[in-house]
Amino acid sequence: MGLPQFRVSQLIHWMYEKNAACIDDITEFSKPLRETLKGFSYIGGLKILKKTASPDGTLKLLFGLEDGLSVEGVLIPDEYRLTLCVSSQVGCAMGCRFCLTATMGFIRNLRADEIAGQVMAVRQELQAQGGVSSEITNIVFMGMGEPLRNYDGVVRGINILTGFMGISKRRITLSTAGVVPELQKLYKEIPEVNLAVSLNATTDETRSSLMPVNNKYDIGSLLRACGRLPISSRRRITFGYVLLKGINDTPADARRLIALLKGLNAKVNLIPFNEYDGAKFEPPDEKTVLEFQQILVDRHVTAFIRKSMGREIGAACGQLRTCYEAAQTELPS
Ligand code: SF4
Repeated sequence: MGLPQFRVSQLIHWMYEKNAACIDDITEFSKPLRETLKGFSYIGGLKILKKTASPDGTLKLLFGLEDGLSVEGVLIPDEYRLTLCVSSQVGCAMGCRFCLTATMGFIRNLRADEIAGQVMAVRQELQAQGGVSSEITNIVFMGMGEPLRNYDGVVRGINILTGFMGISKRRITLSTAGVVPELQKLYKEIPEVNLAVSLNATTDETRSSLMPVNNKYDIGSLLRACGRLPISSRRRITFGYVLLKGINDTPADARRLIALLKGLNAKVNLIPFNEYDGAKFEPPDEKTVLEFQQILVDRHVTAFIRKSMGREIGAACGQLRTCYEAAQTELPS
């Protein structure tokens, strides 16, 4: 438009810091400039259609998109952090057998503005409630969808979050089922983001039966790729392991897991399967879960057990549940 550069900074300031809901809110712009902008653009946004609070303090959110579709998020408070779990796709094509989102199939990728828009919508909601101390501190891509199957949208979304909205890359965690080429590409571009890998099995046979992506990128290729990522030695890769009764919960599985993670700077999140209507799996009993954890801890593998936060509100997608960073418990070693 031939405008001076500082207009861009002003626009970003009004959109992302002052939460302008429409171009007319940008009173720093002259009326003729606002009219010109309105001729070809508008400020969009997501609506929070539904909020469901759980007694454990988590808040499940349903975000309405402009085309009438919706995605889910979860806001998880703990003593030190306020974590927002965001979605990257409407539905998911990955077909993980234990996951509720998988039953929807894939509908579409979210755009970058829709990814950042989830954070904006929650920020605005918190500000409206007057919660100055309730600033979102951490973002996790563990909601609906496989973030690495929406590579461009997610990377651009992260760039908006970190470039315009003041969120540090180190406070962003991306969770993947293991799409190896995009994983390597992502860490060339943004090596600062934290990585969570949804592993869930210790043999290719079992993992392929649970997660079809394993037929393309098996455990060996996934873990080798993880080992080569340019991640700082101070930061660990989190491996998610949904415990399914009679499928992947034996002491032999725990021992194989130790062997697989050898040489990696890793920690393990054990997630007893969170049942939902029509689910084909069950969680192991508590004793089995604790024994599994103890085998790992005995061999100096850091292993947390996730409590079932959010169960009351049905925040139970295979990955959505792993958002509950607040709920981790560690055995004393
Ligand atoms: S667990 Fe994640 S990657 Fe797998 S189907 Fe569910 S949303 Fe997709």
